[in-house]
Amino acid sequence: MPFALLLAAALSFGPEDARAAYRAAGGFMEKCPVRDAGTPGTLAASYWILDEASRTGADARRDVFRADTPKGMRTFVNVCAEYRFDSDAEWVVLVSHYDTKPGCPGANDGASTTALLIAIADALGRWHGWRCNIMLLWTDGEECMEMYSDDDGLWGSRRAVETISARGLKIRAVVCFDMLGDRDLGMTIPKNATPELVKIALAAAKEAGAEVKKVPEVVKDDHVPFLAAGYKAIDIIDFDYGSESGGRGYWHTAEDTMDKISEESLLCAGKLVVEMLKILLR
Ligand SMILES: [Zn+2]
Repeated sequence: MPFALLLAAALSFGPEDARAAYRAAGGFMEKCPVRDAGTPGTLAASYWILDEASRTGADARRDVFRADTPKGMRTFVNVCAEYRFDSDAEWVVLVSHYDTKPGCPGANDGASTTALLIAIADALGRWHGWRCNIMLLWTDGEECMEMYSDDDGLWGSRRAVETISARGLKIRAVVCFDMLGDRDLGMTIPKNATPELVKIALAAAKEAGAEVKKVPEVVKDDHVPFLAAGYKAIDIIDFDYGSESGGRGYWHTAEDTMDKISEESLLCAGKLVVEMLKILLR
C-alpha cells in the first residue's frame, strides 16, 4: 500500500490533532490549575508536560534553574523535547510558555499553545521525516511578576538562550506561539521579528488557508531574548482577547477559561505551525 504509506509519512495537522490539543489543554488545566511563574504550580505542571512529550517518543527533559526575581530567588523549570536528525544539522525551535499570571487560569494564555505543542510532538512522532533537528520548548516564567525588564519576565527563554548558546547549537529559526486558542482567532506577527521568518510565516499561512497579519506593535514575548542574542526569531500571537473586537478583557484575568478557546482555532494554528515547519525543514 504505497499510497497509504505515503500518507502516513506526511507531516500533517488535522481535526483529530486539534481535538487532541483541545483535550490536552483541558487536561492540563484540570491537573495543573495553578501555574504561577516560578512556583510549585509550574514545578508540578512541568512533570505533566514531560510525561506528555515523552509519550510521543521524543527525548524530553526538564531544566530546573534558579533566578532572582522582584519577589526573591525562585525556582523555574523549562521542558524541552528534542527530535535529532544529525549532530551537525541546524535546529528549528518551537516555543510556548506554560506559566500564568496569579489569579488567571490561563486557558488561552499558556495552556492553549502548551497543548498545541504537545499535538505537534504527536505529529512529529508519527512523521519521523525531519532533515534538521527540532526542539520543542515549553518555558516557565514568561510572565513578569511586576513589569517586564532585564530582571523580570522571560526567565525561561533567557535560560534557553544561555543553554543553547553554551551547547553551540546552530539555530535556523525560533518560532514562539502565544494565545492562539482564542475562539475569536486573529493571528498576528508583531513588528519585532526577523524579516526572513515573517516571509515564511506569511507563505505558510497561505498554504494553511489561515489568516495571519503583520502588526506595527512590538511585543515582549519569549522570542525577544533570542532576537537579542542574534538568533532569527518570530512570535505568532493573538493579543486581542476579550468579549469585544480588539478588547483584552479576558487577558490575565479569571475569565481566561476553557470556554474562550476552541478546537477550530487550534486547528488553524496547528496547520500554520506544520506549514511553517515544512518550509523551515526544507
Ligand atoms: Zn500572559
